Amino acid sequence: MTDSNRKPALSTRIAQALHFVEDGTGAVTPAIQPAATYARDEDYQVRKPYWYRRDGSQTTAQAEAVIAELEGATESLLFSSGMSACTAVIEHLPTGAHVVAPKVMYHGVLAQLQGYAAKGRLTLSDYTAGNLDELAAAIQPGETTLVWVETPNNPNWEVTDIAAAAELAHAAGAKLITDCTGTPPCMTRALDFGADFSFHSATKYLGGHSDVTAGVLSVRETGTFWDEIAMVRKLQGTVLQSFDAWLLIRGMRTLFLRVERACQNAMAVARHFDGHPMVEQVHYPGLPADPGHEVARRQTDGQFGAMMSIIVKGSEQTAIDVCRFCELFYPATSLGGVESLIEHRKTVSGDGFPVHPRLLRLSIGIEDADDLIYDLEQALTRAASS
Ligand code: PLP
Repeated sequence: MTDSNRKPALSTRIAQALHFVEDGTGAVTPAIQPAATYARDEDYQVRKPYWYRRDGSQTTAQAEAVIAELEGATESLLFSSGMSACTAVIEHLPTGAHVVAPKVMYHGVLAQLQGYAAKGRLTLSDYTAGNLDELAAAIQPGETTLVWVETPNNPNWEVTDIAAAAELAHAAGAKLITDCTGTPPCMTRALDFGADFSFHSATKYLGGHSDVTAGVLSVRETGTFWDEIAMVRKLQGTVLQSFDAWLLIRGMRTLFLRVERACQNAMAVARHFDGHPMVEQVHYPGLPADPGHEVARRQTDGQFGAMMSIIVKGSEQTAIDVCRFCELFYPATSLGGVESLIEHRKTVSGDGFPVHPRLLRLSIGIEDADDLIYDLEQALTRAASS
């Protein structure tokens, strides 16, 4: 039986990088186009769409097309890091714009927002991540330009209801940007929930192999603001380079598989350490008692993600020692790779940042779940007795 309207599943389309076939050769993987500049044609006209590397490249555009498909977006723009993508959004805002952002969030973005506010470039109001009443109170109708939601939110993994936040933002005439880096678009398609921009640090799950730094913005509807953001990228030269774009395309082909496995592992780890005698608390939206559980179930396609934090019992040094004593978990920053990472978040985000001194952030990878649990068990035991 055939059905001419049948469309392959999103996971199929992404595994095949949109059924990529190179014209002429039939190659099933794209080549890397490294050119920094492009010759004009015989009439001395620029050959569209590229004329110089800061505009982008064919390879970067191929990666953008895959992400746009993942996000259900009209367009996606890739940057050389997540931070450069976020900075382009902040940079394009008019002077004096009012921005609402979580009190605690990914520390780099928060530092950037606070830095712009300190220079009088924007005004900032905050809310506790996940708290819609506080979010509503922080938004100023007719004044607020941008509402920033990170969900799940670093490093305590609070969940914010994107659809509710979009309603609040839109009712006030503001745009909503979401940072769902912790739950990539195979789990959370933020634009479908009403976000105007969806941001991801593609360094994380989209790349998936800890070998590329990249950031991506996606939109449902383009407009002047989008052209302005693209112009910031062009003028600052923060477009993702071709080789990195190629790595990203390769990484995304296994996105669905990697994420499914990492989420299963995370659930096993969270359940094991919830109520553990050496662990005071587990922050993981997949646990039924977690305050964000029900919203996360709707927003993350029932998978809950592979990021969690644990508060260990003992002292701050005990927490640092757990990182030191792990033999499989890498004591490294970042998240979303195939390998599991552990970090003492206070050491990384600095003394001024409000984070529990005994909080360890875990990025659960695709290894064997029992190995990961064993590794944490032995590290906790050693740290408790040292
Ligand atoms: N947003 C979140 C939630 C992140 O975790 C990170 C990086 O860890 C970023 C933004 C910044 O991305 P990048 O490190 O790719 O610049």
